[in-house]
Amino acid sequence: MTEVKGFTSRIVHHDRRQGFTDGPVHAPIYNSVPYGYETTEGLIDVFQGNAVGHAYARQSTPTIDSLQSMITQAEQAVGTIVFATGMAALSAAFFALLKQGDHLIASKYLFGNTHSLLTTLENFGIEVSFVDTTDAEQVKQAKRDNTLMVFAETIANPGTQIADLAAIGDWCEAQGLVFFVDNTITSPYLFNPKTVKAGLVMNSLSKYFSGHGTVLGGAITDTGFYDWQEYPNIFTSYRKGDTKKWALTQVKKKALRDMGGTLSSDGAYQIAVGAETMALRMDRACSNALALANLLNTHDKVAKVYYPGLAEHPQHDQAKQWFKHFGAILSFDLQPKYDSATLLNNIDLVINATHLGDNRTLALPMASTIFYEMGPQNRQQFGIGDQMIRVSVGIEDCDDLIAAFQAGLDKL
Ligand SMILES: *Cc1c(COP(=O)(O)O)cnc(C)c1O
Repeated sequence: MTEVKGFTSRIVHHDRRQGFTDGPVHAPIYNSVPYGYETTEGLIDVFQGNAVGHAYARQSTPTIDSLQSMITQAEQAVGTIVFATGMAALSAAFFALLKQGDHLIASKYLFGNTHSLLTTLENFGIEVSFVDTTDAEQVKQAKRDNTLMVFAETIANPGTQIADLAAIGDWCEAQGLVFFVDNTITSPYLFNPKTVKAGLVMNSLSKYFSGHGTVLGGAITDTGFYDWQEYPNIFTSYRKGDTKKWALTQVKKKALRDMGGTLSSDGAYQIAVGAETMALRMDRACSNALALANLLNTHDKVAKVYYPGLAEHPQHDQAKQWFKHFGAILSFDLQPKYDSATLLNNIDLVINATHLGDNRTLALPMASTIFYEMGPQNRQQFGIGDQMIRVSVGIEDCDDLIAAFQAGLDKL
């Protein structure tokens, strides 16, 4: 079979090359929990890692393997482990690779649950510094003797701040630190964090990757960039074989096996089917988002629009250089005299829902929902205005979306 280079060509021709018997074009759903062997020695070899195979579905199935290899290809990386959710993937990576007394530098603009998870790490004696990663200098200044890792998202939500990915990656390389990037909002179609020297990548498969809002999943991918021989926390028993696989082996054994946040084969199958149209969906959702950002940006009832595709966005030039498109998340502040709930009630096409990366456009006011618990003072610090609305732009026909927002704003 000739090599294909394009993102979608590789994905849609991926499954039938996985060596399944009878030539299925889609990876079959393997629902068996145990895997049996003709001889006892066969099972022993799998247990001892001397033969490739499956033993128990908490750790792997052929369907899971197929999805992992698809994600590895999409990220142009060396290996992937999948989990039941994005949060399971993140907690697995942090708990398997950090220990008491280590220091992590993290973006202060994080997905809320990730921020919450990192404060839990602090309870286990892992030090965490939250810094403004749009400024690489702040990351550098946070370094301590015990720093091992820097963690950032590509485009943060709801404020759409973009970390100074290239400068942070260069610095991590020079310092021997692991650069760990959450690529969920961009997806591997818009961006491969490997290009900015990330060693580890997380994708929530619940979002753009699967795309249809019908399944949860998460993945940790090793790009092959970081040399794990330099990393102090790899256990002796995993320091063997290909050095590029050491960290993932530890994540698989210490987190997936021991903590058990396993993705089902049914879930993996749905994610793989959804991923086939990732590029088509993202092209459409991102161009819709740009059109909507332009409408909102010129509307006199809107005070401010947060979208990396606008020339006045503080990291517009970097976004243009690094990402294929500017993403499909945008936020905006209404002028203070208008009420965000009233506007959203005016727009029938848009669904009042949290979540990102559905095919349908979803929106919600920020201060009264996701950021309600935080209180007004903290909201101000994170740049969450009282009338801020976040929109996860879907793949509806652009004219319908624009007309719906235009009519909703006019009616205010
Ligand atoms: C949704 C999301 C997560 C968590 O993913 P789940 O699959 O919902 O657990 C992590 N990071 C970002 C940026 C997200 O948007």
